[in-house]
Amino acid sequence: MSGTVHIIGAGLAGLSAALKLSGRGLRVVVHEATAFVGGRCRSYHDATLGMTIDNGNHLLLSGNHAALDYVRGIGAQQHLIGPAAAEFAFADLASGERWTLRFDDGRFPFWIFDTGRRVPGTGLLDYLPLARLLWTHPGKSVGDVVACKGPLYNRLLEPLLLAALNIDPPQGSAKLASAVIRETLAAGGVACRPLVARDGLGPTLIEPAIASLQARGVAIRLEHQLHAMHFGADRIEALDFGKETVALAAEDAVVLAVPPYAAASLVKDLQVPTEYRAIVNAHFRIDPPASAPPLVGVLNGTAQWIFAFPGRMSVTISAGDRYLDMARDVLAKSIWSEVASVTGLPAALPPWQIVRERRATFAATPAQDAKRPGAQTAWRNLALAGDWTNTGLPATIESAIRSGNRAADLIARSP
Ligand SMILES: Cc1cc2nc3c(=O)[nH]c(=O)nc-3n(C[C@H](O)[C@H](O)[C@H](O)COP(=O)(O)OP(=O)(O)OC[C@H]3O[C@@H](n4cnc5c(N)ncnc54)[C@H](O)[C@@H]3O)c2cc1C
Repeated sequence: MSGTVHIIGAGLAGLSAALKLSGRGLRVVVHEATAFVGGRCRSYHDATLGMTIDNGNHLLLSGNHAALDYVRGIGAQQHLIGPAAAEFAFADLASGERWTLRFDDGRFPFWIFDTGRRVPGTGLLDYLPLARLLWTHPGKSVGDVVACKGPLYNRLLEPLLLAALNIDPPQGSAKLASAVIRETLAAGGVACRPLVARDGLGPTLIEPAIASLQARGVAIRLEHQLHAMHFGADRIEALDFGKETVALAAEDAVVLAVPPYAAASLVKDLQVPTEYRAIVNAHFRIDPPASAPPLVGVLNGTAQWIFAFPGRMSVTISAGDRYLDMARDVLAKSIWSEVASVTGLPAALPPWQIVRERRATFAATPAQDAKRPGAQTAWRNLALAGDWTNTGLPATIESAIRSGNRAADLIARSP
């Protein structure tokens, strides 16, 4: 491969492909439709709060090895913070109980055998169904494989799978749930340390990537939306950006790293996932209590995870479609009352913002998962990337970055 690689889409999939390819000394140009880099994973200045916030809280785990390689590669590892060991604080709003789950670093789950450390209300035998989920179950849902009830489900499996798959777990793909469990719980605490971008997604995942790319001479063209591709018999011959058409030489290539609905409009007959799930985030401008853990899992509330950032508390609600049409102030008040109850902060509503991403991820059902294409296409100079391509993982940062790396490998290996 000796030509120019055009990367369409500057989300994490496009950025990781650009970093890999430019790292091999290839000429790369990134084309992004909007005026900003980062796609679904970005920081922006919010006028209502008068501060920079993220479009949504993003959690990484220490087992997300492609994401951590990416962060190290752009020199931003100091911005990812988390506890020294794999521990997760929980608050149950219904019972008032509080506990912290601490996983052993090694693969053997000693914590399951320790009544003081296992999930409150569970017995040893409750953990057996977890083993069932470790096998891949093509075409099956989580609800087909395990009983979605009982304390282990309510207090561990549901919060974990809801966050990772962004779908009500019983409907979720058992194959994707299995991949998550294999790469996290089953890999031991060393793979489960929660990591958050304390200073925001921009300074952690986006701005250092832009700086690395620009240092290598990669052009990033913003507000440069791809309108169409000219398809030859076995290669893409030109890229149509509306006012400008770029003819591709025989050795040029394209990585299409756009969301599924955009990819389907650009590539005829491409099968892609067509259903989505929302994620709702609520941000409150207030200093967290000094003792607040970086995140707390909330059970039996509207809030699911409460994140503590400098000067801000933020809440994530995955599979939040039922809150899309709720009045924003009603939602903000109801979420804040839960945050106040969990953290002990005053009940008076601080300045707030609600961010609802309708198409946060594709719906991780078995049927939608089956529609995910691989990176390779019928055109030898076109590769696909994106969290929705067939990475074997749900739509996450890890999936997006692995997809970008895979597309880059495919292009770099092409003659
Ligand atoms: C609120 C929220 C919370 C999340 N929380 C987590 C989390 O806790 N942990 C986690 O791992 N993941 C999380 N995710 C998922 C994660 O953000 C995504 O998996 C990841 O950002 C997807 O990256 P991507 O590059 O595949 O796609 P995108 O970020 O969608 O990037 C695609 C890019 O292509 C551009 N584009 C589209 N059409 C064109 C065109 N025609 N021409 C040029 N450019 C085009 C778009 O503008 C966009 O910039 C969350 C997502 C959301 C929305």
